[in-house]
Amino acid sequence: MSLAELQALEREHAAPTYVRSPVEFVRGSGCVLWDVDGEEYLDFLAGISVLNVGHCHPRVVRAVREQAGRLLHATNLYYTAPGLELSARLASSSLGGKVFLCNSGAEAVEAAIKLVRRARPGGEIVVVQDAFHGRTYGALSATPQESKQAPFAPLVPGFRVVSKHPEAVAAAVGPETAAVLLEPIQGESGIHVLSDELLGAAREACDRYGAALVFDEIQCGMGRTGTLWAYEQTGVVPDAITTAKALGGGLPIGALITGPRLADVFKPGDHGSTFAGGPVIAGAALEALAICSEPALLDRVRVLGERLATGLAALPFAASVRGRGLMLAIDLRDGLSAPELALEALQRQRLIVNATGPGTIRFEPPLVVSEAQIDDALGRLRSLVQ
Ligand SMILES: *Cc1c(COP(=O)(O)O)cnc(C)c1O
Repeated sequence: MSLAELQALEREHAAPTYVRSPVEFVRGSGCVLWDVDGEEYLDFLAGISVLNVGHCHPRVVRAVREQAGRLLHATNLYYTAPGLELSARLASSSLGGKVFLCNSGAEAVEAAIKLVRRARPGGEIVVVQDAFHGRTYGALSATPQESKQAPFAPLVPGFRVVSKHPEAVAAAVGPETAAVLLEPIQGESGIHVLSDELLGAAREACDRYGAALVFDEIQCGMGRTGTLWAYEQTGVVPDAITTAKALGGGLPIGALITGPRLADVFKPGDHGSTFAGGPVIAGAALEALAICSEPALLDRVRVLGERLATGLAALPFAASVRGRGLMLAIDLRDGLSAPELALEALQRQRLIVNATGPGTIRFEPPLVVSEAQIDDALGRLRSLVQ
């Protein structure tokens, strides 16, 4: 089917929720995607930090193929091994408590919201400006962005929004607070690293009032910043983390991971999901988690992140660079449009990057990217706006 035909189908039959760029991808491998005409693209978005292991990683593909031929689904009314093994590996790789598996990022956030309310009934949830936690009602209520929230009022009550200052977070927490929920590095709003002071103040305030500190690592986790979890570089250990995006190696899965304090808050029947932790997806996630946990890969993320950040800072159209590891963004110099630049990069340079706002471009290549591919991407960017 041609691109024009797909666009016609979209116009007539797809809910008009997405603004798609005019390219049809049919194949991927590592950091490379191919369109329907066989043109090769360098992927520096990784499906919004989903393909941390790269497109079609052979270990992920093999796990899916093998499991798909044996058993696709059994429900959580019975035992299957991959989901429980995954829960064990997720817990032992992070907070050591217990894991609720689900199917997406928003669902992981929903589970977190229910968990902290279960622990402190009626409690308030403190979130910070520019946060993004997802599109379902609970997650949306934790996402203080006028354009996303306003059309869907009334939202879930009990969320309080504070500015990104340590004092503001500390002042908002009290005996009625169920949790502080935040992304250690805010992804969708343009890669804003929250300061260690802010995270420390949130930790201290939560400890003082027995509230839960929840980190949304759906975008910044799974090795993206050079450690398996972003919190490892902050000096702050949360009570729970949410993960999703890269967890399934390209397939949809999410998880809420708790530390010991929240491990037994949920009781049988409190929460659930028909598909969650199914054997195919959990088998894929076991591989993705193992790959993203490899020390050699994580070391490379830090080194290559430096290389990319240095190169981005030297671009004539970059006003500033921010981020950590391979989770980076640039603000463009005045007058330049990020959506236009991203489209130009796609169409003229066959480089996939993403505009998170009118003046910001985000770079999240697969973690298996090579030095040569980083330099190649920088070369393609230098050829723009000339
Ligand atoms: C993408 C994202 C979500 C939502 O995940 P979905 O799988 O799209 O529901 C939540 N939080 C953060 C930090 C994200 O980046």
